[in-house]
Amino acid sequence: MSDLPVIVIGAGSVGLSSALYLARQDVEVVVVERNSALNGDAASGSAGYITPSHCMPLAGPAVIRRMPSMVLGRGMISVKPRLDPALLRFGTATAKAGRGPLARAGMRALLEQSRASRELYADLAAGRPELEFRRAGLMNVCATAKGMRALREEARLLAAEGLDGRVLNGAEAAAMEPALRDDVAGAVFWEEDASMAPDRAIVALAEAAEAAGASVLLGRPVSDFTRTADGAVSIVHAGGGSLPCAGVVLAAGSGTRALGGLLGLRIPVQPGKGHHIDLPAFAPAPRIPMIFHEHAMGAGPLGDGIRLTGGMDFVGDDPRIDQRRIDAILRLNRSYLREADRFADAPGAVPWAGMRPCTPDGLPIVGRLREASNAVVATGHGMLGFTLGPAAGRDVAELFSGVGSGSGNATWQPQFAPARYGL
Ligand SMILES: Cc1cc2nc3c(=O)[nH]c(=O)nc-3n(C[C@H](O)[C@H](O)[C@H](O)COP(=O)(O)OP(=O)(O)OC[C@H]3O[C@@H](n4cnc5c(N)ncnc54)[C@H](O)[C@@H]3O)c2cc1C
Repeated sequence: MSDLPVIVIGAGSVGLSSALYLARQDVEVVVVERNSALNGDAASGSAGYITPSHCMPLAGPAVIRRMPSMVLGRGMISVKPRLDPALLRFGTATAKAGRGPLARAGMRALLEQSRASRELYADLAAGRPELEFRRAGLMNVCATAKGMRALREEARLLAAEGLDGRVLNGAEAAAMEPALRDDVAGAVFWEEDASMAPDRAIVALAEAAEAAGASVLLGRPVSDFTRTADGAVSIVHAGGGSLPCAGVVLAAGSGTRALGGLLGLRIPVQPGKGHHIDLPAFAPAPRIPMIFHEHAMGAGPLGDGIRLTGGMDFVGDDPRIDQRRIDAILRLNRSYLREADRFADAPGAVPWAGMRPCTPDGLPIVGRLREASNAVVATGHGMLGFTLGPAAGRDVAELFSGVGSGSGNATWQPQFAPARYGL
């Protein structure tokens, strides 16, 4: 490889992991991040759940059946109606994604990658209690019998893939997690899931990448590329500076679509906005990371307090905090948590919003780009980007280490190939 660096664009879980594993392979690597500090974007604001149990891609006809209520904004997943050709293409491709053998192969790929990531995070966190890496499992909780029927069916499908969930009735769930109301309908406990303090994990990834020889440049938004006659990227233009490069990794989360545009490519990523609100500790506070199934919300321990997360809003590139979402998260937690009434006026509650990079088929896009021979894309991790960051980074490093197109790569998953979107 040449002496010029590989430039990784984006300092989220995917970009920093890419830098870490590239640097560990003795590749010269520079990360450029548009924010002036780490922890500005989705990965650090996530719930920090590391969830092999969430390997079922969020795509297919079932999503489309829910579309009317999404457009009307009735649930915690919404689509802002607008005449955006990219959104229309996204919706059509989501409807086609289906639940056939391809979707099952995608699910297996996500499961494998999630498990691999969990072990890579465990290595990162070894001897560092401040990162709060916990293999304490995760509970999916349902408030209604109808929700529980759907969750049981999901558990049955995952059991067939070798992922065992313990089905609990309401009383058993409340006995295991005293923060739950005792009238919840039931839960599934996934023993092999883990969690981590996401903001500290991002800083730890950056430090590990730097210790391995990478540089991380903050406040450097990428605005253009210079390319050679054969399409390779030769210079990355970032924050007023020009960085010559041997290769480039597009790992800018939901911002990757705009980067693709600079290369003349349509990367089919839509931002799916989510919110969190951090609350100080209260008793009984959740001890086990939880997901409230019917409402696509989460509540889990974080530092001295708890983090509530929720919502998936396809509103375009609009990062503003939507107070109605925050209010809905606080209100809907009442169906699950005993002390939720006390949330509303909790002093020191901190709201936040961030964008998940979502793809039509619910699978990441990781691999070489046909149109730019030295460029690798690594995005589209949707609801699983914190979980999957390390595995994605490891695959990016392998793609650069001479394995070529990715086929024959030891860990890379063909279901994630950019070629499925003509890229
Ligand atoms: C509320 C919420 C809760 C979540 N909880 C979980 C969870 O528990 N577990 C899980 O696995 N996932 C979770 N996710 C999803 C996860 O956060 C995302 O999938 C993940 O952050 C994607 O990682 P990334 O590195 O691809 O992108 P990001 O984290 O978005 O990072 C991309 C980086 O690229 C930078 N960038 C963008 N454009 C440019 C540019 N032009 N130039 C330079 N830099 C640029 C951005 O500033 C950003 O720092 C959650 C998401 C939300 C919103």
